Amino acid sequence: MGLTHRSVGAHAAAFGGTRRAGERVVALAGNPNVGKSTVFNALTGMHQHTGNWAGKTVGCACGRCRSARENYLFVDIPGTYSLCPHSAEEAVACDFVRGGEADAVVVVCDATCLERTLVLALQVRSVTPNLIVCVNLLDEARRKRITIDLPGLQAQLGVPVVGVTARKKKTLSALLDALDTVAAAPQPLPDAPPPSDPADDVRRAEDICRACVTYGTAEYAARDRRLDRLLTSRATGYPVMLLGLAGVLWLTIAGANAPSEWLARGLGWVQAQFSALLTALHAPAWLHGLLVDGMFRTLAWVVAVMLPPMAIFFPLFTLLEDAGYLPRVAYNLDRPFHACHACGKQALTMCMGLGCNAAGVVGCRIIDSERERLLAVLTNSLMPCNGRFPALIALMTMFFAAAGGSSLVSALLLTAALVLSVGLTFGATWLLSVTVLRGRPSAFALELPPYRAPQVGQVIVRSVLDRTLFVLGRAAAVAAPAGMILWTLANVHIGGASLLAWCANALDPLGRLMGMDGVLLLAFVLGFPANEIVLPIAVMGYLAQGSLGDSLGLAQMHALLTANGWTWTTAVSAVLFFLLHWPCSTTLWTIRRETGSMKWTLLAALLPTAMGMALCTAFTALARALGW
Ligand code: GDP
Repeated sequence: MGLTHRSVGAHAAAFGGTRRAGERVVALAGNPNVGKSTVFNALTGMHQHTGNWAGKTVGCACGRCRSARENYLFVDIPGTYSLCPHSAEEAVACDFVRGGEADAVVVVCDATCLERTLVLALQVRSVTPNLIVCVNLLDEARRKRITIDLPGLQAQLGVPVVGVTARKKKTLSALLDALDTVAAAPQPLPDAPPPSDPADDVRRAEDICRACVTYGTAEYAARDRRLDRLLTSRATGYPVMLLGLAGVLWLTIAGANAPSEWLARGLGWVQAQFSALLTALHAPAWLHGLLVDGMFRTLAWVVAVMLPPMAIFFPLFTLLEDAGYLPRVAYNLDRPFHACHACGKQALTMCMGLGCNAAGVVGCRIIDSERERLLAVLTNSLMPCNGRFPALIALMTMFFAAAGGSSLVSALLLTAALVLSVGLTFGATWLLSVTVLRGRPSAFALELPPYRAPQVGQVIVRSVLDRTLFVLGRAAAVAAPAGMILWTLANVHIGGASLLAWCANALDPLGRLMGMDGVLLLAFVLGFPANEIVLPIAVMGYLAQGSLGDSLGLAQMHALLTANGWTWTTAVSAVLFFLLHWPCSTTLWTIRRETGSMKWTLLAALLPTAMGMALCTAFTALARALGW
């Protein structure tokens, strides 16, 4: 899940460098989940993360747009309910609006709940004269038979009001026209803005909406309430959640089989051509080995094994997110989090962690209490990220799905692994909250947004494109050099043994204690820059000790692993250690930045590693005692 594109700090110094001469800065403000990022993306052509839940934009993003008359620099700021911030990301938004750096502020409101979202507009009106109120989601309001008298609203507010449907780009021309009009006659900032009492604003919003909004039916949210009963009630909430998870994982695994096979075959062919080309060019053997066996093969493994599951899982996950399911998950998990003295919003950050732990850690800014935010940050990497998912799928398919690879078995096992991750997150959160992060859980309000029909086409195109490019980019940036280093380690000999063998041998006793071996443990160590490359590195490590040919498929990988002494218990240990080991370098760097503390960063690395080592060792001891 991408977070921001060009993120800029909300502070003047950081932002000043972004603005070009003659450009007018427009802040896009509003409550969470009213469509700010959708407006921003439609106007600027950027791909800021959108989704149907409150709190996904936690930093500012900038994008440019040209109207008929002006050049605009739009700043998509985090959502906030008022100008009195209650959390770090709300403070970013409030600072930006109050800082007076924007030439104009557009407050985006939700037509389906205008009264609540208008309060912020009333507050912003008291601190900036160049305000435009943009009433979004008119399509949804129409569907719910809610009518808004836009000219009446404009008269009441005394500032320009435009009505839009941000998902339909052409409706946004009205907003640009209004901005041009404001730009033609900008008002100076008031000297000392009169302090506005939030309670008064709430009352004023109520009066204005009574005059401007008409409801065609009293029960405009009946369908949502029925769905909520199914998705969040005690009896059905959890079963539906588990079934949904298993379903998504099954679709991912079943759908990824064939494309993985094609990619493996296709890339195997490319590898053969590349190898033939180097031979024809009389490349020296070391260069051939470095480029083909080292770089290309690792890259090809990453692409063939990792890419298809991600290209299926993320669109599915995003569809659920767009439909508004994630906050319901947070609602369901609030009770157990409360029991661990933590905040239910942690469930949202865990969901983000499923995409990328670094994004999950940044997402923890939505949690107001410092203590609960730290709990969420420290435990985020217990959720397997997209770099670990495909490796887990590969291991489960190879070792546990019946011959021919039953996708259902793999999906159920993966669901069990995720449930274990969630359980361990609760355990670790509880442990931290009774030791180093002691305290009572705070109360919080979580908005359950309306269910929305997701934008299927756009979701698929964007998540496939973004994911594909991201994975390929990361593979090129990390897997290729890692492959080269590994090849070098395998081919530089000291005292009759390769450096790789030296390192693997040194790690072997610890690896064996945990039910694995030195090569796999070394792969985990070398995979520190990115989890995607752990399994390919292990395979390369085994190949470097000389056994199989050039093939890239799962069947060959399975044969290679079993030839190197792997059994199903090795696979279980590997799965456990994939779920629980140190976070990747990007995540650790993000934790350091977010917490500003080496101590917490170290703990974030030690906690999952210690849990993983303990669990693997315990499982191995048990397996050996039972003679498995
Ligand atoms: P933000 O939190 O204010 O930035 O909101 P987003 O831009 O992420 O949008 C929240 C949700 O509302 C997403 O699921 C969007 O696809 C959806 N959305 C935004 N604008 C519209 C609209 O005009 N019509 C409909 N039906 N959905 C919209």
